[in-house]
Amino acid sequence: MTSAFSRILARLGAQAKPEGLCWLCLEPSALPLCSCCLADLHRPQSRCRRCAEPGPALCRQCARQPPPFDEVHAGVPYGPPFSHLIHRFKYQRQWWLDAPLCQPLLATLTAVDLPDCLVPVPMHWSRRLWRGFNQSVLLANYLGKALGVPVAAGLVQSNRATAHQQGLGKRARRQNLKGAFSLTGPVPRHLALVDDVMTTGTTVAALAQLLKAAGCERVQVWCLARA
Ligand SMILES: [Zn+2]
Ligand SMILES: [Zn+2]
Repeated sequence: MTSAFSRILARLGAQAKPEGLCWLCLEPSALPLCSCCLADLHRPQSRCRRCAEPGPALCRQCARQPPPFDEVHAGVPYGPPFSHLIHRFKYQRQWWLDAPLCQPLLATLTAVDLPDCLVPVPMHWSRRLWRGFNQSVLLANYLGKALGVPVAAGLVQSNRATAHQQGLGKRARRQNLKGAFSLTGPVPRHLALVDDVMTTGTTVAALAQLLKAAGCERVQVWCLARA
């Protein structure tokens, strides 16, 4: 396919993979995102080392009551144009977007202690049936392969289809997740939970609490974007 044609298709949002082009600006690039777009997404921003909330190195919330997870590593702050790629990956089944989506996160992980295994944030089977896949599993598989870290996709399971967290207050979110997850086997000493977007962090906090109670010593959270 000529590059002009694939550019037009990509602009139209067709499900064509722009070979040899950056997914965002469609300029020639060996990597899925070119160095200019990556630099643009990676604007240095002071964030809490514990929860990755923009602001001081340790935010007030984490200083007062540290979350059950130990650190959050996010590829980019959530927002366009990256959020459009996430949307296409999740809702338009453009699974090959795993490469450009994981590239900023992989760049932030170069100086990070790698965990013993990756655990995708689970999705209840009824929701997976509806969507056809769990995006966190696809992302964990891609990241695990890139970094040589095993993926334990079934370690945590979702017991019920929880109501959507969106629009719920903090307390209601926690209540909504009570007893929502369970473990299917022994936990490693150090693991990373993988999700596409981290918003309030209630879900990963509930998972980290469960994992720590079972003996896990260190829980990282890896997400493509932090809202
Ligand atoms: Zn680009
Ligand atoms: Zn914090």
